[in-house]
Amino acid sequence: MSSYEIISGKFKDLKFNYIGESLSELINRAEGNEVSYLEFAEMMANEEISQRENRRQKNNLKRALLPSMKRLEEFDFKFQTTITKKQISSLLDFRFIDNRENIVFIGAPGVGKTHLAISLSIKAIESGYKVYFSTIQNLIEEIDIAEAQNNLKQKINSLLKNDIIVIDELGYLPMNKKSMYNFFQLINEAYEHRSMIITTNKDFSNWGEFFHEDNVAVPIVDRIIHHSHIYMIGGESYRLKEKTKK
Ligand code: ADP
Ligand code: MG
Repeated sequence: MSSYEIISGKFKDLKFNYIGESLSELINRAEGNEVSYLEFAEMMANEEISQRENRRQKNNLKRALLPSMKRLEEFDFKFQTTITKKQISSLLDFRFIDNRENIVFIGAPGVGKTHLAISLSIKAIESGYKVYFSTIQNLIEEIDIAEAQNNLKQKINSLLKNDIIVIDELGYLPMNKKSMYNFFQLINEAYEHRSMIITTNKDFSNWGEFFHEDNVAVPIVDRIIHHSHIYMIGGESYRLKEKTKK
């Protein structure tokens, strides 16, 4: 065994795996740049720290369950002019997360709501936050199952471990009474405690329709919009534009 291998093995035993893996490369770089002992110590520490952060972000990206990787850089603000790049960019300091505020995108199908929700999720994860992305349908299914198994509280607590819960397509389908009540529990726990990003095709005045009963719809909507940034997104469907191009 070379002395490189022995020493990198020692780093791995100490759980400094990334230093262990790139020891010879770090040494080559240090020798090439004639760095001091102190600088070399810093290089090793930085290697371990940045690679751990990389791994954390990768895991968080996986756990977020994003339906696709729609980046903000791919969003065409010349096509979608009812929201500006500046408006979205102003969210990227993520103060809305620290202030437990919500973001609501309201608009017809195809105008880019899901794309923006995904883009913000990716940026948040890249800034170190945890995100959970779900369609309302999937979320309701999950919490209904948890409730049936007497696990609703644990399920909600595990959802609330995320910094942002994204709920996509709220309002597309009606919700039965039990689901609505379970959903209310989640919203109630998340209120002023965690941020949510919500996309919906329904204006707030119509939310009662799909929540069936206004007496639960009203407090749900109330909690969602109390501390929130609301964006009404208009314009043409991007899907339609893509279709007519061909
Ligand atoms: P919505 O959720 O509002 O129904 P989506 O965000 O799913 O719409 O957008 C539909 C498709 O069009 C997606 O593939 C999305 O990436 C794309 N799209 C929508 N708006 C834009 C835009 N302004 N620039 C680039 N792609 C867009
Ligand atoms: Mg959508």
